Amino acid sequence: MSVITDKLGRPLKDLRISVIDRCNFRCTYCMPKEIFGKDFVFMPREQLLSFEEIERIAKIYVGLGVRKIRLTGGEPLLRRDLPNLIKRLTEIDGLEDIGLTTNGSLLGHMAERLKDAGLQRVNVSLDALNEELFQSINDSGVKPERVLKGIEKAKEAGLEVKVNMVVKKGMNDQEIVPMAAYFKEQGIALRYIEFMDVGQSNGWDFSKVITKKQIFEELKQHFDLEPVEPAYLGEVAQRYRYRDTSAEVGFITSVSESFCSTCTRARIAADGKMYTCLFAEKGVDFREMLRSGMSDEKIKDEVVHIWNHRTDRYSDERTEESAKNRSKVEMSYIGG
Ligand code: SAM
Repeated sequence: MSVITDKLGRPLKDLRISVIDRCNFRCTYCMPKEIFGKDFVFMPREQLLSFEEIERIAKIYVGLGVRKIRLTGGEPLLRRDLPNLIKRLTEIDGLEDIGLTTNGSLLGHMAERLKDAGLQRVNVSLDALNEELFQSINDSGVKPERVLKGIEKAKEAGLEVKVNMVVKKGMNDQEIVPMAAYFKEQGIALRYIEFMDVGQSNGWDFSKVITKKQIFEELKQHFDLEPVEPAYLGEVAQRYRYRDTSAEVGFITSVSESFCSTCTRARIAADGKMYTCLFAEKGVDFREMLRSGMSDEKIKDEVVHIWNHRTDRYSDERTEESAKNRSKVEMSYIGG
């Protein structure tokens, strides 16, 4: 196996692939209706990478040392026949792990098929248990019960489930403790995600971030938590265990304690552009390479070239100014 490293010595180990730019939610902090309304033009089907193209690019990355692939979007379960893609990816020699990030609304009837196709793990995004609040956040009428049902079905099907909750000041602070209590009881790992300045649509500023430290202080008043050693170098979540149980909570501290120095991740957007950072301004068009008859060897050389020149460490360098002035791509496009 060849391992490639970037200018800061970081190896390329994982790949996130966005399979679609559409979503059936309009979360106010991610795809607000004012911007992603009825007139918003999403990518026509032919602009999305086909399953053949995704498989081809995935094989190239695995040949360069990638061991983990996560499928995301938009909402990946909106992509027709997604289990077929998963099946193809599971057959790639050397790929050890395939995960999926979903809002869970379609998981109930998809879980079995996803598991049968070879999926091992799902991360389900859920920002509140309170019905009214959840509906006001997702702005599309979906009730939390539907997502919870999806989680239940995923567990029944034998998928490992984690839940991700974005915490934004003034949006869902009051749900921090109820979410912890609920998922502790369920034995499902909950991860709190600090609200990030991705894209241009979400009106981000530092005052809306609730940091890990603040969340942890609140949890400590209700639960007895002990730290868990990272499972591997570069693990994104900082994990804690509820003492005397096997249930865990985690924190993704991309704003308050950035982790650029251990970032081993590349991203492919739904149109085949490669990005080396979630906060990137520009990507490199691999769809064009795939469709213009370029050989795998040549495409591989391009990836190596890009990775070898990578210097991104946006979160380490973030300031209020850079967060406001930089023109970053949207999360729904690049894939969260
Ligand atoms: N639709 C899928 C889902 O909901 O999980 C996958 C895509 S979504 C963009 C991936 C994750 O990004 C979700 O957990 C979402 O809450 C999170 N996200 C979106 N905007 C964010 C932001 N500004 N800061 C932190 N997380 C964000």
